[in-house]
Amino acid sequence: MKGQQVRPEYKDINLLMFQEEFKTSDDCGRLLFHTRWPHGFKCPNCGHDKYTQISTRNLYKCLKCKYQTSITSGTIFHKTKTPLLKWFWLIFRMATSKTGVSIAEMQRELEINDYKTIWVMAHKIRKAMADRDAMYKLAGLVEIDESFYGPSTSKKRGRGAEEKAKLIIAVSVWKDKDGKEKPGFAHAFIANDASAETIGSILQRLGVPDDEITPLINAIRTDGWQSYKAVAKEFGFVHHRVVLSDPKDSMKLLPWTHQLIANAKAVFQGPHRGIPAKHLQSYLSEVCYRFNRRFWYRQAFHRLLTACVATTTVTRNDLMAPISR
Ligand SMILES: [Zn+2]
Repeated sequence: MKGQQVRPEYKDINLLMFQEEFKTSDDCGRLLFHTRWPHGFKCPNCGHDKYTQISTRNLYKCLKCKYQTSITSGTIFHKTKTPLLKWFWLIFRMATSKTGVSIAEMQRELEINDYKTIWVMAHKIRKAMADRDAMYKLAGLVEIDESFYGPSTSKKRGRGAEEKAKLIIAVSVWKDKDGKEKPGFAHAFIANDASAETIGSILQRLGVPDDEITPLINAIRTDGWQSYKAVAKEFGFVHHRVVLSDPKDSMKLLPWTHQLIANAKAVFQGPHRGIPAKHLQSYLSEVCYRFNRRFWYRQAFHRLLTACVATTTVTRNDLMAPISR
């Protein structure tokens, strides 16, 4: 959990193993217990490690201070009425699906009566994804680009298309021992504009550790748009500008940001068509979360479950409230 430095041990679980291992909510409870307390039970009140289980209600009682805690308290499953087995299925599918999961389809498959129930569940899982990714910084060379998403109400394309949502994508880039470029950690944001101020505040937040002032970022690679020039100057970054004589070149010259933009558009135009502006960021965070873990298919489920246990949750009321900016 927060502040804990021990790296969790993630279980390898593919679809067949998942089906074999999780047949009841009790099976899920066992993994949840080990994910919350990988080194055995620890009382959230006094830290004591001896407990009795009040089995009928999935409660654990500390033998020293008598504090009672459930395996779901402090997790996204807190006070849920939906069986853990259904939660686990949704987490598995959201962790491993390449193009995003249709919530309406999952509602049918999991036999959840109320669409709003599963809609809120999915948002809680996305919040856990976003919280997890927020723990990682950008460093070294960072490729940045922006794109647009929204209904085509105007013939104008590109930066003039003001009515569209702006996606700002930043990806750390590193070189392996053979000098081959590899994408590192990525972040993606919905922003009101692509001004130097907006981009600067994103990079400040993502590129400077909380307890330091020196940025971890030392260079940026962009298409040379004026906001990037201003940001590079302000922060003292080396600025690699690629010249895009044809927009199609961006796939080659800014490859990593464009891969993520393509993933986002596939999701926004596929299973999640017509996402309201208020929730775009949360869907984009989901795309980004999976991009960042694309090499860990077998650990994807347990990594996401771990994030769901550690996150502070978002309530149904938060999600339904009108947009505030
Ligand atoms: Zn205790």
